[in-house]
Amino acid sequence: MRRPLIAGNWKMNGTKSSAEALLSGVVSGATSVSKAEIAVCVPFPLLCLGEQLLAGSNVQLGAQNVCTESGGAYTGEVSAAMLVDFGCRYVICGHSERREYYGETDEIIAKKVSASIAAGMTPILCVGETLQQREDGLAEQVIGSQIKGVLSRIGIDAFDRLEIAYEPVWAIGTGKTASPEQAQDAHVFIRSQVADESAAIAEKIRILYGGSMKAANARELLSQADIDGGLIGGASLVADDFLVICQAGDLAAG
Ligand code: PEP
Repeated sequence: MRRPLIAGNWKMNGTKSSAEALLSGVVSGATSVSKAEIAVCVPFPLLCLGEQLLAGSNVQLGAQNVCTESGGAYTGEVSAAMLVDFGCRYVICGHSERREYYGETDEIIAKKVSASIAAGMTPILCVGETLQQREDGLAEQVIGSQIKGVLSRIGIDAFDRLEIAYEPVWAIGTGKTASPEQAQDAHVFIRSQVADESAAIAEKIRILYGGSMKAANARELLSQADIDGGLIGGASLVADDFLVICQAGDLAAG
C-alpha cells in the first residue's frame, strides 16, 4: 500500500499575512489527518515563514522550482541546498507552466531532479499532455516521452527517490478534471513506463493526480487503485478545501 501524498502547489500566490493565515489553518486542521502525508509547496519568499509555522506539525514544506546548478554565479536562481536549508522536503520539477512559459526541456528537468535528490529532497516530477495532444490520440506518447526523457538521463534508481504527478495540461486551473477512469488509465500507463526498467520501483512509486482536484472530486479520484495522492493548485489556497482533500487522502489510505 502506497501512503497517499496530498501536496499543495500555491504557485505565485500569497503575501506574508495571507500565507500566515493559510499555513496556520492547514496546520491546525491537519492534526486530524493521520494516514495521508501532507505538503505545501510555497513561493520562495515564503519558505522562511513556512519553515517556522510548519515546525513540529505533520505538514511538510516544499518548493516549486530549483536551479540545475549547485551554487555560484547564477543570478536569480535558488539551489537545492538552499531549499534544504529552509526545511524543504519536496520540490516540484517540470510543472507544465515551467515547461511552457520558461522553456524547460526534459534535459533541464532531469538536471533539476538530480540536483534535488543529491541535496536530499524528494522531487515531484510533473508530466502531462495538452488537450490537442489528447484529441490527436498522442497522450501516451507525450507522457511516455516525458518520463523516458528524464529516466534515460538520470537512471531508474533515481525513480526510487521521487514522486510523479500526472497533470493533464487541459485540466490545470481550468475547472475541468480528468474523469477517474481517464486518470487511472494514465497512471497505469505511467507505472508501466517505470516498470519497463524496474517492476519493484514501479510498484513503490507514488503517482499523484493534478488538474482541478478539489473537495468535491478528491474522494473519487483518490479511490482509484493507481492514484496515490494529489498535487493541488487552486484548492490548496483555501485551508478548508485543502483539508477536505487531505481527509479524502486519509480515507483512501484505508
Ligand atoms: C497544478 O498547477 O499543479 C494544479 C494541479 O492546479 P489546479 O489544481 O489549480 O488545476
